[in-house]
Amino acid sequence: MGIQGKRRSRSKKRRGWAHRALVGLALTRCPACHKMTPPHRACAFCGNYRGRKVVTIAAKSSAKHKPAAAKPEKETKSA
Ligand SMILES: [Zn+2]
Repeated sequence: MGIQGKRRSRSKKRRGWAHRALVGLALTRCPACHKMTPPHRACAFCGNYRGRKVVTIAAKSSAKHKPAAAKPEKETKSA
């Protein structure tokens, strides 16, 4: 690392940081299921890419129900 030649003013520092804002995710609509999905990737909802199914999507019911069943037990213990 080099040695700092001049102190960077508060204004210049802030002007530089003004360009580092987070940008939103680029999303396109899936032609098969019409849900928003990142471009150039297989759809996370239906597994289609360029008009054909390339990924088999696992059933979402099994993964979603497990945390919901565990939650009421924790709430009763803490209360
Ligand atoms: Zn889709």
